Amino acid sequence: MDMKALLKQLVETESPSHDKSAVDRVGALVREEVLKYGADVKIIPNTTTGDHVVARWGSGEGGILLLCHMDTVFPLGTLNSMPYREADGKIFGPGVLDMKAGIVISLAAIEAILNTGLKRPVTLLCTSDEEIGSATSREYIEELAKKSALVLVLEAALLDGSLKTWRKGVGAFHVHVKGRAAHSGGDHEKGRNAIEEMAHQVISIQKMTDYSRQTTLNVGVMNGGTVSNVVPEDAYAEVDVRVMQPGEWERLESEMQSLTCVLEGTKLTVTGGLNRPPMPFDETAKVTFEKAKSIAKTIGVDLTAGGTGGASDANFVAPLGIPVLDGMGAIGEGYHSEREYIFADSLEQRKKLLAALIQNW
Ligand SMILES: [Zn+2]
Repeated sequence: MDMKALLKQLVETESPSHDKSAVDRVGALVREEVLKYGADVKIIPNTTTGDHVVARWGSGEGGILLLCHMDTVFPLGTLNSMPYREADGKIFGPGVLDMKAGIVISLAAIEAILNTGLKRPVTLLCTSDEEIGSATSREYIEELAKKSALVLVLEAALLDGSLKTWRKGVGAFHVHVKGRAAHSGGDHEKGRNAIEEMAHQVISIQKMTDYSRQTTLNVGVMNGGTVSNVVPEDAYAEVDVRVMQPGEWERLESEMQSLTCVLEGTKLTVTGGLNRPPMPFDETAKVTFEKAKSIAKTIGVDLTAGGTGGASDANFVAPLGIPVLDGMGAIGEGYHSEREYIFADSLEQRKKLLAALIQNW
């Protein structure tokens, strides 16, 4: 397989999560590729987001599940300002690292081991909505993970090649303040300023951050009001939440629900939930990593472990108690930004690592 040629094709097929037909074009390419390698392919249809693609080699349980996503955070047309290109040993392009290279590495690893015969059944699940929370893919991820001995997630590695053995959990709160509109000159005292009330709430919410417990809250979006001469009736805030320790999400939920209005006559509503639970470096994770490390050693790779505050679909797998290794994808940096790139030679390195893990687990 010409890994770079396939990568170029995938990157140049832009696939923002919210554009079903765009993501389905990547799905069609993936389907075409896996058929070349004799897979049984199943398409899981979706109405609003792209279809998921499941490719399978061999049958029965206790196999290896490779987890990829086909969607990216980049809108159509990003290629104009950020074309696929290779320079100084790096390959640039929208979604190249996150995670079109991961799809290529999966396919190349499977191709490489097919001639020697697969030791276990291998399933490749390519989902369509990872970047927007995996609402439609989560059930398939969990269902397939439960039948697997090991789940390998093809998200980017850390810059030094380390696997992502822990990830924080991610949640969100939406806060709405209802005030009362009034003329800002003639009726100021009759109004209830929703933005003023929200300002009080924002301070309280930010203070729920507890670095000692790796818990962070970020009021990342705020809006409210209509024009400057009206006392604003509504204000909204969106809060990103990251948790690592058990019990922290519950603490935040209860603190958020006990927020009370400072200004008399305003009303506060808090909604939201935990999207992806934390993936701690627990006993299962340690044992899984150590096994991977010893397999990597046989091909001369010194595998190291790291982690990140960002979540992935691995966060759905870990709580099931299924061994999972994330960060199996390409090495690079700048994902979700115009700086996104991979090191070109990491394609081959990660393919070898992935193939070794699949065959020796
Ligand atoms: Zn990703």
